[in-house]
Amino acid sequence: MTTNTVSSGQPEPASQPPANNPYRTAVTQFNAVAERLHLDPGLAEVLRTPKRELTVNFPVQMDNGSVRVFTGHRVQHNEARGPVKGGIRYHPSVAIDEVRALAMWMTWKCAVVNLPFGGAKGGVAVDPKSLSEGELENLTRRYAAEISIIVGPDRDIPAPDMGTDARIMAWFMDTYSMNMGHSVPGVVTGKPISIGGSQGRVEATGRGLLYIAQEAQRAHGRSLEGATVAVQGFGNVGATAARLLQAAGAKLVAVSDVGGGVYRGSGFEWADLARAKDRGQVLHDAVKNADIITNEELLELPVDILFPAAMEGQISSINASKVHARLIVEGANGPTTPEADAILADHGIPVVPDILANAGGVVVSYFEWVQDLQSFFWEEDEVNVKLHRIMTRAFNEVQALQEREQVTMREAANMLGVSRVAEALQTRGIFP
Ligand code: NAD
Repeated sequence: MTTNTVSSGQPEPASQPPANNPYRTAVTQFNAVAERLHLDPGLAEVLRTPKRELTVNFPVQMDNGSVRVFTGHRVQHNEARGPVKGGIRYHPSVAIDEVRALAMWMTWKCAVVNLPFGGAKGGVAVDPKSLSEGELENLTRRYAAEISIIVGPDRDIPAPDMGTDARIMAWFMDTYSMNMGHSVPGVVTGKPISIGGSQGRVEATGRGLLYIAQEAQRAHGRSLEGATVAVQGFGNVGATAARLLQAAGAKLVAVSDVGGGVYRGSGFEWADLARAKDRGQVLHDAVKNADIITNEELLELPVDILFPAAMEGQISSINASKVHARLIVEGANGPTTPEADAILADHGIPVVPDILANAGGVVVSYFEWVQDLQSFFWEEDEVNVKLHRIMTRAFNEVQALQEREQVTMREAANMLGVSRVAEALQTRGIFP
């Protein structure tokens, strides 16, 4: 019943898929950087191509006694700089091209913030909200067992992403540990604190966005204090960022989730939004005294900072010319297509790219892995101080490169990430 397909060869060509295919976006961005860096064509081909891909079709026993087969993937893009690292996504639209793109972005992201990791990503095509707790656990444990042939604390270390959380990481860690015969906390990050998670991990991506927004505002001679912000997506990343941004003095005028958004010119209290979400409703049903807006309208608001923190392909050639934010800080992975990037650059709207802006999550995942390997755990303020240092250093390095090369921040971040991976690959050489 189970089919495992491992391939180390070429993925399907990226030339055919539709315009919003995230893998096409990732390869287009890479090709532009490879050209700018004058990379040797053979080296570029290695960097462009995912190293290892595993697709698993696996059965899960449902509560009513029936059996359903689900499809999952794990893609390891490049391990020149160290073991690979990347999240696991549960979402109905999970497909191999999406996972490839996310794995490639993880490689550049880890290099931009200078972590000793390569990039990976995984996912299962499922709506986790449609499953009971028991079905979700069965699915997670079986998927973990299926991909554990290529996962491990010194090989590939998963973490949460859209649709997954600390509880799912705990099941993953337990399944892997049971198969090993001993506890292996370092096999995943984003775990609960009680089994080797790190202080500060849950809010790390949102906190990293805050630090990056502060740096970006400073770079433009502005402050976060009083700045109007719109946040698309009110999940782990978006809701945490919104809370920390408000605490830092920003005015939260618009937020959205999958059901749509709400706008209030005088600003929202984050706690009211969180209470509404806790009642299990979509924001636009639960929040009072606010204008109901669509996700498209949220992206077009004339705010100081727009945070797309939901999913890929949200700002495209269709709506980019209607974006009126003064600055975009990408919380989601791949929310802006290459066509939209060109339009935003034309309109003078700076974009702090995903591989820099949302790297706080993988930075604290790295801290968690280090703590697990040492069995020695840090205080939360120690985590946050180290996170701040890494995020601001990466921002400054990207900004310096941007100014020197007269390119966009995305191009500069990609150049920094790709050149570090290329250097590692050249230093190691091609085996045998
Ligand atoms: P999540 O599942 O916790 O939250 C996603 C949010 O987006 C939810 O509020 C959901 O309602 C909303 N949403 C879903 N589809 C939408 C749509 N079409 N329009 C508007 N809103 C929509 O996920 P998350 O962990 O917050 O991840 C969000 C993004 O951030 C993803 O792109 C993910 O890859 C990226 N990211 C996450 C982390 C992390 O640590 N969790 C780290 C880096 C990047």
